[in-house]
Amino acid sequence: MKAAVLRQLGRLDIEEVELDGPRAGELRIRVLASGLCHSDYHMIIGDLPTVLPAVLGHEAAGVIEAVGSDVVGFAPGDMVITCFSAFCGQCHECQDGHSHRCEDKPGKPTDREAGSRITRNGEAIYQLGNLGGFAEEMVVHHRSAVKMPEGMPPSSAALMGCGVLTGTGAVLNAAKVEPGRTVAVVGCGGVGLNAVQGARIAGATRIIAIDKSSDKLDLARTFGATDVVLAGPDAIGEVLELTRGGVDYAFEVVGSAATAQDALAMIRTGGTLVLVGVTRQDAMLALPITSFIMSEKRVIGTLMGSAPFQTFLPKLAAHYLNGNLLLDELVSQQIPLEAINEGYAQMAQGKVARSVVTF
Ligand SMILES: [Zn+2]
Ligand SMILES: [Zn+2]
Repeated sequence: MKAAVLRQLGRLDIEEVELDGPRAGELRIRVLASGLCHSDYHMIIGDLPTVLPAVLGHEAAGVIEAVGSDVVGFAPGDMVITCFSAFCGQCHECQDGHSHRCEDKPGKPTDREAGSRITRNGEAIYQLGNLGGFAEEMVVHHRSAVKMPEGMPPSSAALMGCGVLTGTGAVLNAAKVEPGRTVAVVGCGGVGLNAVQGARIAGATRIIAIDKSSDKLDLARTFGATDVVLAGPDAIGEVLELTRGGVDYAFEVVGSAATAQDALAMIRTGGTLVLVGVTRQDAMLALPITSFIMSEKRVIGTLMGSAPFQTFLPKLAAHYLNGNLLLDELVSQQIPLEAINEGYAQMAQGKVARSVVTF
């Protein structure tokens, strides 16, 4: 099968590779669509470490072709969405209702008898997140997939597995924004637009979108932003003025220390900064301790929607089918696998909300 392989930092190469499986507990999936997520880009350029060579891609939707032994609840022909948050069901976090934080994710390459299921001439190729969605097919653990209702376009469904889950979950599950609250979203790409619509679904009455692209700000209005602010030196002041002192919740979705610091400056007394965007591992945030105590502010991090994907994604699908959650509007363009490097270049330039590779 064809896959986009990261061998050297900076670019993906389209290669013919071999795929093995499914073995016990695994699904073999024919990929229909796979989103270009910013986290993969951090690995392509070396901001985040990854094993090389690797097949990246973790926002995928496809059709099950075969199931291994010991798989319950899935059958060939089922439409599924894959997710990073594979879970064991047994560890403390899984038992405590936080399977997205599973301490013993199944399907780790080290657990697998023969390492990765993807090889080329005998050389193992790492599957990012035990997924590897930038390929015509995937073999994944069945606890990293969820069945989706019929009638969802694969290109839209694929985005639910990471960007949609992360953005809406940050608002609905991590911050638990209440009706009537004020919200700022810094960065309106694939995840930020979902934080905006998550805030709309939560009933926030003031939703301020901040981005350096006026096109993305126009899109943010479609997703539910009540106000938009062009990123720049005046952005903090504008947010403070619009809200007379700051927002209840600021979501940092760009993934940079500088924008996290800006977002921190936008929250009011009792407000919460929610860190969503993944960035360099050595990035730090400076907190004024005494002012934090006096104004009872909070900073929280959120991972993969802060909820078990296997129950949260079906809820999001219901919102989509009700017309409440916009997904089709997130797909800026559908591209062939061969155009993946160009797709990432456009993302890096901030030109697109989401590109999706379709097969
Ligand atoms: Zn992602
Ligand atoms: Zn677990």
